Amino acid sequence: MPESGRTTLRQLRETALVCTRCPLAEGRTQVVFGVGDPEADLLFVGEGPGREEDLAGEPFVGRSGKLLDRLMAEEIGVTRSACYIANVVKCRPPNNRNPAPDEIAACRPYLEAQIALIKPAVVVTLGNFATQLLLDTTDGIRRLRGSVYPYGSAHLVPTYHPAYVLRAGGEAMAEMRADLVRAKRLVAERAA
Ligand code: URA
Repeated sequence: MPESGRTTLRQLRETALVCTRCPLAEGRTQVVFGVGDPEADLLFVGEGPGREEDLAGEPFVGRSGKLLDRLMAEEIGVTRSACYIANVVKCRPPNNRNPAPDEIAACRPYLEAQIALIKPAVVVTLGNFATQLLLDTTDGIRRLRGSVYPYGSAHLVPTYHPAYVLRAGGEAMAEMRADLVRAKRLVAERAA
């Protein structure tokens, strides 16, 4: 990890692209560092790249990503290029398994540095892994969503992972929409 004081997001990305801090490096096609506006007010954090993201080198390009793009547009009125999207782990866990604790720990400094450099007004965590990591809790997303939490100088809005919403539909979709509206209001308040 470069000296944090002088590191830019671009330098952090270059470091991450050749990272071998954990075994996920062996199985990846590409490091999926993150995408979007480096000065975004709104930062989304997912879990980790799947097959399509590993091939594309970009987060949330598969089915979950299509839903995320749609809900971002419909509830917040933004495209992915106007926000920033990152993941807890930057390399694909094999067979889409969950990231392991040591992999999350190895990758955590990248996510924390991304947040410190981008300085978003609002961080939206998508699902259990991102929410539990950033809130340092073992509580589940069902319990945590619906409220706003402090994260440094930002607000943290936990919501479901879009893959869960694709499976669960109905009420989960409505709750995720409500969470995104909450995030939109917080961004607007910060800008006012
Ligand atoms: N799921 C995630 O959590 N992140 C991605 O980038 C894609 C799917």
